[in-house]
Amino acid sequence: MATYDLVVIGTGPGGYVCAVRAAQLGMKVAVVEKNATLGGTCLNVGCMPSKALLHASEMFEEAGHSFAKMGVSVSAPKLDLPAMMNFKQQGIDGNVKGVEFLMKKNKIDVLKGTGKILGTGKVEVSADGKSQAIETKNIVIATGSDIARLKGIDIDEKRIVSSTGALSLDKVPGKLLIVGAGVIGLELGSVWHRLGAEVVVVEFLDRILPGMDGEIAKQFQRILEKQGFAFKLGAKVTAVDTSGKTLKATVEPAAGGNAETLEADVVLVCIGRVPYTEGLGLKEAGVALDARGRVQIDAHFATSVKGIYAIGDVVAGPMLAHKAEDEGVAVAEIIAGQAGHVNYDVIPGVVYTTPEVSSVGKTEEELKQAGVAYTVGKFPFTANGRSKVNQTTDGFVKILADAKTDRVLGVHIIGREAGEMIHEACVLMEFGGSAEDLARTCHAHPTRSEAVKEAALAVGKRAIHM
Ligand SMILES: Cc1cc2nc3c(=O)[nH]c(=O)nc-3n(C[C@H](O)[C@H](O)[C@H](O)COP(=O)(O)OP(=O)(O)OC[C@H]3O[C@@H](n4cnc5c(N)ncnc54)[C@H](O)[C@@H]3O)c2cc1C
Repeated sequence: MATYDLVVIGTGPGGYVCAVRAAQLGMKVAVVEKNATLGGTCLNVGCMPSKALLHASEMFEEAGHSFAKMGVSVSAPKLDLPAMMNFKQQGIDGNVKGVEFLMKKNKIDVLKGTGKILGTGKVEVSADGKSQAIETKNIVIATGSDIARLKGIDIDEKRIVSSTGALSLDKVPGKLLIVGAGVIGLELGSVWHRLGAEVVVVEFLDRILPGMDGEIAKQFQRILEKQGFAFKLGAKVTAVDTSGKTLKATVEPAAGGNAETLEADVVLVCIGRVPYTEGLGLKEAGVALDARGRVQIDAHFATSVKGIYAIGDVVAGPMLAHKAEDEGVAVAEIIAGQAGHVNYDVIPGVVYTTPEVSSVGKTEEELKQAGVAYTVGKFPFTANGRSKVNQTTDGFVKILADAKTDRVLGVHIIGREAGEMIHEACVLMEFGGSAEDLARTCHAHPTRSEAVKEAALAVGKRAIHM
C-alpha cells in the first residue's frame, strides 16, 4: 500500500498550492482529483474562463465603441462566438497543463479518482469501478464548492444555467435574466451584455454586491445602468416556466406583494456557492461540519479528527481562490511544524468588470457598526491625469483610516485596473501602515495609482489635484 506524509483531496487553488508547498518542505505528497483535469473550479469553470471571456468581450466592445474616438478606424467588429470560446478553452488548457507541470516538477503523485476518507491516515481512491487504499500521515480536504440551487428551478445548463453553463452558451441570448447581483452574476452579465444580450438582474437585497462598501456599490450600479444593465432589487425569482419558446420567470417583491412575469431566453442562477463534501465519507470518519455544511476547523485548519485538515471554499471565509491558496500554504507549513498563518483582515476582493471594483479591509458600514471612529479620503479618476488622457474616468478611490492613529482600515476602488491597484493597499495594511505612509510614498507619473496616493492625501485633507 502506498504511504505518504500528506494526501490532499482536490486540486483547486487550495489543494494544488498546498501540495506544492508541502513538497517544498520535504514531504512525500499525493493529490486526489475526481475531475478529468486538475485545477478545480478556478481553472476549469471559475476564475480563469470567466476572465478569458471578460477580456475577449471587452476587446469586442472596445473595438466597436472606443477605437473611433481615438482615431483608430476599423469596420464594425463581428462576433465569432466559437472562436471566442476556443480562446477561452486555450486559456483553460494552458493553465491546467501548468498545474500538471507543477505536480511533476515537485514529484507529487496525482491519483485520479474520487477520494473518500476511511479514518485517520486512510484514504480510498475510486475510479472506473476500481478502488485503491492509501496510507498517509496527514490529510487535507480541499474539495471546494458547488453551485447553490434555487428550490423549484431546475438548472439544465442550456436555458436555465449556472455560472458553468453561462461560460459556454452557444449563442448570445437576446434576453438574459440573472438571479443574484453578486460578483459572478455581474461579471458574466457583463460578458453577455457586451456581446449583445439585454441583461436584467434580479436581486433579493436592496443593493448589489452584498458585503462590498455601500457607496462603491451604488456608484457601480449607476455605471452598469449607464452601460445598459437593468436591475430589479428587493425582488426574488420564485419560478421559471420553461414550457414555451421563451422562458417566463415569476418575480415577486422580496417583502411580499404582487408577482410579475419577466421573459428571457436564458436564466442564469447565480445566488452563491455551497461547500462540496459529497462522497467524502466525513460523517463516518467523524469529521464535524458547521451549521452551514462547511468543514469545521480550528485556527490551525485542523478538523475534529486528528491528522485531518481542511482549507478553501469547503471551510468558512470568503470563497476566493487566493484565500484558498494562502490557506494551502499555511496548512502545509503548520503540518511541517512551522507557524503558517493567514491574515483574514487583508484579503482583497475584485470584480473584474469594466470598470473593475476592488476592496480590502473594512467597509464604511462595518466601521460604523463596530463604532470605530474613522476618517475618509476620496479621489475621483476624473481628476487623475492618466485617466483623463485615456478617457477612462469612471470611479474613485476611497480610503478609510482610523481617526486617532491614521492606520488604514479599508481601501475601496472603482475604476479601470482597480484589481491591480488594490495591492499597494494590501501591502500597506499588512505592515499596519497609515494613510500618511501611503501619501508620502512616491508614485510614478502618470499612473492611475496616483489616485490612490491622492486619496491617502485626502484623508489629511491635502489632496493636490482636487
Ligand atoms: C464563475 C466563477 C468565477 C470565479 N472567479 C473568481 C475570481 O475571479 N477570483 C477568485 O478569487 N475566485 C473566483 N471564483 C471562486 C474560486 O473559483 C474558488 O474560490 C476557488 O476555486 C476555491 O478553491 P478550492 O481549492 O477551495 O476548491 P475548488 O477550486 O472548487 O477545487 C476543488 C476540487 O476538488 C475536487 N474534488 C471534490 N471532491 C472530491 C473528492 N471526493 N475526490 C477527489 N476530488 C474531489 C473537485 O473536482 C475540484 O477539482 C470564481 C468562481 C466561479 C464559479
